[in-house]
Amino acid sequence: MALKVGMPRSLAYYTYFPLWNTFFKELGVEVLLSNESNKQVLDQGVKETVNDACVPIKMYHGHVKDLMEKVDYLFIPRLVSLDGEETVCPKFLGLPDMVRYSIDGLPPIIDNRLDLRKGKLEFWKFFYRIGRKLDKSFWKILMSYRAAWDKFNKYQSLLLKEYSPQEAWELIDKDQSRGDKIQQKGDITIALLGYPYTIYDPYISVGLLDNLKKMNVKVLTKDNVPSVDLLRQRKKFAKEMFWYYSNQVVRSALYYLEKPRVDGVIHVTAFGCGPDAMVDKFVELECKHSGVPFLTLSLDEHTGEAGMNTRVEAFVDMLKRKRG
Ligand code: SF4
Repeated sequence: MALKVGMPRSLAYYTYFPLWNTFFKELGVEVLLSNESNKQVLDQGVKETVNDACVPIKMYHGHVKDLMEKVDYLFIPRLVSLDGEETVCPKFLGLPDMVRYSIDGLPPIIDNRLDLRKGKLEFWKFFYRIGRKLDKSFWKILMSYRAAWDKFNKYQSLLLKEYSPQEAWELIDKDQSRGDKIQQKGDITIALLGYPYTIYDPYISVGLLDNLKKMNVKVLTKDNVPSVDLLRQRKKFAKEMFWYYSNQVVRSALYYLEKPRVDGVIHVTAFGCGPDAMVDKFVELECKHSGVPFLTLSLDEHTGEAGMNTRVEAFVDMLKRKRG
């Protein structure tokens, strides 16, 4: 029987799922995802996490609880630097330890470290060590590694054609990676900015992405910005933050505000997120400077759908009137 590795459907899952999933599958390992985020998963996470953790970290703990009795291993990598420059926030850095010391009775954790500041080969070493931990041969690991990157590159090119991660995964799964550029339609265009694990998690974001589309809004995110443009914004940006995901939000905001390319910006922040205190202010000031309307939505485990929808509807309404 194939080994079963559990992957919490949270945090970096929203960035790397196609890469990790393909790697494990090609190794001959079964990947079990936790359930979609929901109230029960979050409640379980809240019970296991320290009070002042942000809602994505609480949700992550709930996903671990959901999986822990169904798998041989849990995949909770120690992500340090994902671009060779900045690190991820301290809560990511300590994630395997935080989970290990918060929840009893866990299966073994695959917690290999990924720190691209040590060089580009680190990605290979990361996967190689995981493969060896699972007793796979060098050749099997190499072939799985190549297949994983092949799929991940196709996935990323679909994101640049304005597919959402969900749509891109579905196309990749059906082997239709050459999807044409979609022409998202909408009366107005909004840049929906925030960490991928908040804006794409339908429970944390209270279905915001789908709701905006239902309001006939074209929605663009950081994932629709080519990396070369993010790099260009990095060079223009005087103040760099320490944290990878935070910098990505700021750079994508600068990109969308450049011409400007959007009618409005919504920044989704997690209550209790230290880095977001700076990111939010910065994006707000840049929007003001560019004359682009801006809305912040701060989310926590008590966020209600009705209150959130009212604010979003009013914002969209105002943008549509402004467009005329
Ligand atoms: S960056 Fe903020 S939201 Fe993300 S894990 Fe860290 S504290 Fe939480």
